Amino acid sequence: MMRAKSQTGGLSDRSFGVTLPNCYRVGYFSGGVSSAVAIKIVCDELNKIVYTHIDDQHPDTMRFIRDCETWFGKPVTIMQSPFKSVDNVCRFTSFIRSPAGAVCTRILKREVRKEFERNTAVLSVVWGLDCTETERADRIRTAMPNHSHRFPLIDERMTKADAHKALRASGIKRPAMYDLGYHNNNCIGCVKGGMGYWNKIRIDFPDVFASRSKLERDIGFSILSRSWLDELDPERGRHAGSVCEDCGIFCELIAL
Ligand code: SF4
Repeated sequence: MMRAKSQTGGLSDRSFGVTLPNCYRVGYFSGGVSSAVAIKIVCDELNKIVYTHIDDQHPDTMRFIRDCETWFGKPVTIMQSPFKSVDNVCRFTSFIRSPAGAVCTRILKREVRKEFERNTAVLSVVWGLDCTETERADRIRTAMPNHSHRFPLIDERMTKADAHKALRASGIKRPAMYDLGYHNNNCIGCVKGGMGYWNKIRIDFPDVFASRSKLERDIGFSILSRSWLDELDPERGRHAGSVCEDCGIFCELIAL
């Protein structure tokens, strides 16, 4: 196993180097490649690996989770909100997103995690941020001062591309969304996507595009700030860069 050469202030090494009884060192697995590799690097030190499922994930996600269980040599606990899907949450709240965040992140991810943490003393958390994201790591420490934090990709000086290489070398096929040209394995039809993203979803997943278009009209709330989806010019926007972060805890923190 690769060992950490901490660029993160040494706190993570110390916090993982001692035995803390009655607490959990948790890897919150987003279902993405960076998260998987980060967890793999430190999985010997983890008590629990948790993935929060949403019905809008590509079906290949569960294949990836199961393959990673074998790779980690540890089970992945699957959690899910009773709301199950983005559509259910948005219809229930008559809301989709604001600059502060998306309601689906809050209810389908954060509230599930909070419920888990009400019953589990989580003191240490593993993150999939890469070596270009040290400022985000600092923001996480500030936002969650009561946890210790582990950033294995930063400690190993790994980029996202390095994480993909590591996964490929393991023989595990990455989730299908990456091979379709998406930059993370978030929900199909992520409400944080921009015009270029939605024009790509229109082509790749026309049923999802139609469903989100109907959702917008039914609740009177648009996903994009400047257009309803059913009026979106097919030539607008370009799909480059991440839609948003992997929809995990970091995405939740932005929504706080
Ligand atoms: S990936 Fe996008 S659509 Fe899914 S919960 Fe997160 S913000 Fe919502």
